[in-house]
Parts: sequence; C-alpha cells; structure tokens
Amino acid sequence: PSSPGTTFADADPATGAAVKAADRAHVFHSWSAQEVIDPLAVAGAEGSYFWDYDGNRYLDFSSQLVNTNIGHQHPRVVAAIQEQAARLATFAPAFAIDVRSEAARLIAELTPGDLDKIFFTNGGAEAVENAVRMARLHTGRPKVLSAYRSYHGSTAAAINLTGDPRRWASDTASAGVVHFWGPYLYRSQFHASDEAQECTRALEHLEQLVAFEGPQSVAAVILETVVGTGGVLVPPDGYLAGVRELCDRYGIVFILDEVMAGFGRTGRWFAADHWDAVPDLLTFAKGVNSGYVPLGGVAISERIAATFATRPYPGGLTYSGHPLACASAVATINAMRDEHIVENAAHIGESVLGPGLRDIAERHPSVGEVRGMGVFWALDLVKDKITREPLVPYNAAGADNAPMADFAAACKRSGLWPFVNMNRTHVVPPCTITESEAKEGLGLLDEALSVADRHTAAAAG
Ligand code: PMP
Repeated sequence: PSSPGTTFADADPATGAAVKAADRAHVFHSWSAQEVIDPLAVAGAEGSYFWDYDGNRYLDFSSQLVNTNIGHQHPRVVAAIQEQAARLATFAPAFAIDVRSEAARLIAELTPGDLDKIFFTNGGAEAVENAVRMARLHTGRPKVLSAYRSYHGSTAAAINLTGDPRRWASDTASAGVVHFWGPYLYRSQFHASDEAQECTRALEHLEQLVAFEGPQSVAAVILETVVGTGGVLVPPDGYLAGVRELCDRYGIVFILDEVMAGFGRTGRWFAADHWDAVPDLLTFAKGVNSGYVPLGGVAISERIAATFATRPYPGGLTYSGHPLACASAVATINAMRDEHIVENAAHIGESVLGPGLRDIAERHPSVGEVRGMGVFWALDLVKDKITREPLVPYNAAGADNAPMADFAAACKRSGLWPFVNMNRTHVVPPCTITESEAKEGLGLLDEALSVADRHTAAAAG
C-alpha cells in the first residue's frame, strides 16, 4: 500500500523531540493534567501498527479510541479524501452534495429496520445531543434514562447521560437525566446468578424506574448496545427486546448508541444485528469512516422523521455532512464490504481472540473475566478470582492505580499498545487485523499480564 508519510526507517529522534517540545508548550490535552501527561510522539502508522521517532513499533490493540476499524492509512480511504479535497473541499449542509447523499444512502442501507434518514454530525457526542433533542421534541417529554457504566460523550447533554466518573466534574444534575443499572452479571446489582435472571431483573428494575419517574415524563431510554468504555458489557439475550417492548408500552423513544459498537467492531455491521434489535434512533461515529475525518450521526426511523416533515428540526452544525468526511465514509464502507472486513472481525473474534483470551484467563490469577465478541473484548482484572475485587479501586488515580499503570507500561515496552480503563484492559484492534497479528498481540498480552499477576499476588499477601 502507498504510505507516503514518515516510514519506520525514516523516523528520526531529533524530529520526535521537537514535536514533543511544541506539544508540551502549546497543546492542551483532553482528560489530562497538562504537566503530568507525557504523550508519545507518533511518526507514522500503517494497518495494525504505528511507530514513534525512536525506533519503537507498536501493535495497535486500542484502534486509538476504538475508532480505526479499517486500520491505519487504508489506501482507498486516503485516496478518497485526497480526491474529494481536489473536487469540492467544503460545502454547507443545506445543499445536496453527491458524496453526502451517497454516504447517507449507504448508512441507511446498513442500519437496521426503518432507520432510513441520516442526520450528520462531527462525532459521537453531537450525535447523542441531537438524538436526545429529537426524542424530546417527538414526545414532548423531558426526561432521558441512561445507564450507569455508560459513556455517551463530553458535550453538555452527553456528559450528563454518561454513567461513569467522567460525568462528575460537569454534572449539572438538571438536564432531566435519570440513571439506571444495566445488566452486568459478573458484578450483578441484582444478586443474579445467571444471565437469564440478570436479564429479567434488569428489565424489572428499568420498569420500576419508569413507573416511579412517571412514564408521561420519559422521552427516551438510551443504551450502548454493547457497553464500550465501561467494560465491553454484552447484554444477555432478551434484554434489548425487553427494553424495546417496555419503550413501546409507554411511548418512550428507544435510542441505541452504536458510536463504539457500530461499523464492524462486534463482527456485524451493528451490534444491534446480533439480537435483531431495532431502535427508534441509532447514533454512530468512529467506525463509520474510522475517524479519518471527524464524522458522526443519527439514523432516524420513519416515525421520528415524520415529526419533522413539515415542522422544522431545530438543530444543525456548520460542518454537518462535511464532504471530506462523507467521501471517507463512502470509501470506508465500500472497502469494508469489498474486503470482507466485518466478516474478518467476526472470524478473528471466534477463532483467535475469544479462545486465546479465555486460555489466558485460565492461566493468569489476575484475570477475573473475559467478555466480548468480534474485535471488542475486555479482561476484568482482579485481586482475587473468588471475591472478584477489582485490581484497582473504582476510579483509582495516582498510587492507587499503580497496578494498572505498571501493566500498561509493560505492554508498551513489549510493543503492544493497550486500551486500559480502570481495572480492565480492552482488546480492541482494528477489524482488519490478521490472524498472525492477533496471535502476536495475545502473546505480548500474555507476557505483560505477569506484571498484573504480581500485583494480584501482593494483594493476597
Ligand atoms: N458514545 C459512545 C458509546 C462512545 O464510545 C463515545 C466515544 N468514546 C461517544 C459516544 C462520544 O463520541 P465522540 O468522542 O466522538 O464525541
């Protein structure tokens, strides 16, 4: 493939040092204490790998922020962006543009059910903001129910909906958001002992919440189809159907957030496809074009779109459906189809990652549970397999988080770039990863886990 950027051989440490110095002086980084973080200077990337300026190459088991589903520098996507830039680089959302129409048509064709209208945004949080706005206007109701252990983005409504500690600093507690517990058998809130029980009790809990909030005030329930950042929580069979039924009974809009789970990550185009779930609104971003240009959106059902047939939809963004973003989405989707990339994600999950990670879990005292599907997995690291006490406390920082920081550093030293969140390491490589790359990554992970095992042994005393 054509990779005209800085090659592994060309990268030189002096350039790296200059990049880092300018970064340190002027880039204000997200979610970080500015004087504490020490970001890696990246020289280039290709496929499942990226490299720095100091001669280190990393197997990307993070897909960055779980978005480079098609891998780094896919030549068809890069070329589509270049061609579109030369043809028509930018144009306002109110105009009909060929690549925008085509991206919307392709996405509508892939999304489940009658989600046939696409509202484009620049990313996931804005998709969530607009889905919630549509639900409130459609129902005339104020409240939105969302799950603890969820992440929906960092803009105003999206961060309030989020159910992990990233919400705390920005929680206005006034946006009509009510949180509920979703199913998570390994750490069941419902004292359930199997998936069926967890499912029934989680649905009863949600129904109680609706009853006590007053159904007439609830606009929407929003769920990540498979919870991503919160730990790759795969819902039990029957849960999504149960939520769908509950929403229908009370006239509540059902929103599935597929920003992380969508576009191949789970081994199907959408995670909802595993359970034939059809929401009223589906949010997407990340994998739609693997983040080569910022893009997200909301896929909208006929019924909700009809609310805005003659009444204007009061929302929009200057860059909604940006031509470069749409061109890259068209190229990404077509390449994913032609190269059977979604099928590859399913195959890698079933034949390499699933069995390999379960085998790793057997051998490592620090691994409490393995969960996932496709190229979407998490290892839940614990102090003790019996008590299931997490290896680090919830939302640990500083010295409390040392076991996970040590583990992450061990991965990086070995050439594996992990996705670590709280007491978990997620295994989320590109959907394009080959069998041999996936096996290489599992080998490196296996070695690095000996560092986590030492902390588990120390906790046992
Ligand atoms: N929803 C989910 C499920 C996500 O995983 C994310 C990003 N991690 C978002 C929304 C927010 O997307 P963005 O960062 O593009 O705003």
